[in-house]
Amino acid sequence: MSDILVILESRAGQLRPACLETVGAARLAADASGGGQVIALATETTELDAAALGAAGADQVLLAAGQGHSADGAAATAARVATEHNVALVLLPSTVRGRDLTGRVAAHRKTGFAADCTALDYQDGGFLFTRPVFAGKAITQVRVCGSIAVASLRANHFAPAGRSAVAEITPIEAEIGVGQVTEISAQQGGRPDVAEASRVVAGGRGLGSAENWPLLEAVADAIPGCALGASRAVVDSGWRPHSEQVGQTGKVVSPELYIAVGISGAIQHLAGMNSSKVIVAINKDAEAPIFQHASYGVVGDAMEILPALAAELAKVGV
Ligand SMILES: Cc1cc2nc3c(=O)[nH]c(=O)nc-3n(C[C@H](O)[C@H](O)[C@H](O)COP(=O)(O)OP(=O)(O)OC[C@H]3O[C@@H](n4cnc5c(N)ncnc54)[C@H](O)[C@@H]3O)c2cc1C
Repeated sequence: MSDILVILESRAGQLRPACLETVGAARLAADASGGGQVIALATETTELDAAALGAAGADQVLLAAGQGHSADGAAATAARVATEHNVALVLLPSTVRGRDLTGRVAAHRKTGFAADCTALDYQDGGFLFTRPVFAGKAITQVRVCGSIAVASLRANHFAPAGRSAVAEITPIEAEIGVGQVTEISAQQGGRPDVAEASRVVAGGRGLGSAENWPLLEAVADAIPGCALGASRAVVDSGWRPHSEQVGQTGKVVSPELYIAVGISGAIQHLAGMNSSKVIVAINKDAEAPIFQHASYGVVGDAMEILPALAAELAKVGV
């Protein structure tokens, strides 16, 4: 029986959706290992929904607010809590902050970590992590040796438990970090983060210029909860912010629907999106590599197809 610690993350006081997925994964893993506790640790906010966290799978929520967004403080707090509660596994969502904390917590506990996992199992008395490697060309299964493992989980690969339970919230003392994040600039436009959204419309160099982005936005506006993504060529050209870049040096996404417009399908872009459930490619070159990975393909000029697609989506009312 193993207890599992999940480090929560919030933005503007709201718990990020990937945290509830991580809590759900922890619940399954705890149950598979014999029914341990799932302990969630919040270090950024005091605004927590005990019912939502309980439903997702958490038994206890530890509230260590008061240290702002200091990564070193949060990691030190998590490492201390992991020791105090003798947990066998620490899980985090594979967000930018989660990736930062994963290494820090592992270093504190002098153990290894498995990053960006897409599956988590309990086999032969230990946790088994599945993670894509070599830009998604191969899948590995890894174990972390030692008494405690640390792992980050990719968004949209796990689900909250969906049970009827309310987690118990307990305030605890926070470790104070040396560094402090003084400001987090809010993403403009009010769209979900591309790494967490279940629907993504992404644009590439084929869109021609930043001035053509409203065509892509009109499609995204017609799809509820849709995020915008971009290829690196677009980001390097300064057409879109790096926060929207999908790929090896951007964000890894696994949405239900990924619409790639004017994107050739370079291996570095595929590395960030080829685990999407349904991929729609719109490209004027029928030989573009993206079509080899697409569930549906449209060969044609994005300037004509995007307005027609937005109009049809508006009619259908998705
Ligand atoms: C170390 C390294 C890391 C990298 N990391 C990333 C990364 O994280 N993410 C990433 O995306 N790339 C990354 N790249 C860059 C990658 O190799 C490609 O250069 C990049 O993905 C190409 O972007 P693109 O598909 O938008 O542009 P292009 O390759 O130029 O493709 C444009 C496509 O648009 C189509 N097109 C043109 N006009 C139209 C039109 N009117 N209508 C429809 N289609 C049209 C063309 O047929 C073409 O297929 C990385 C490269 C390296 C070396």
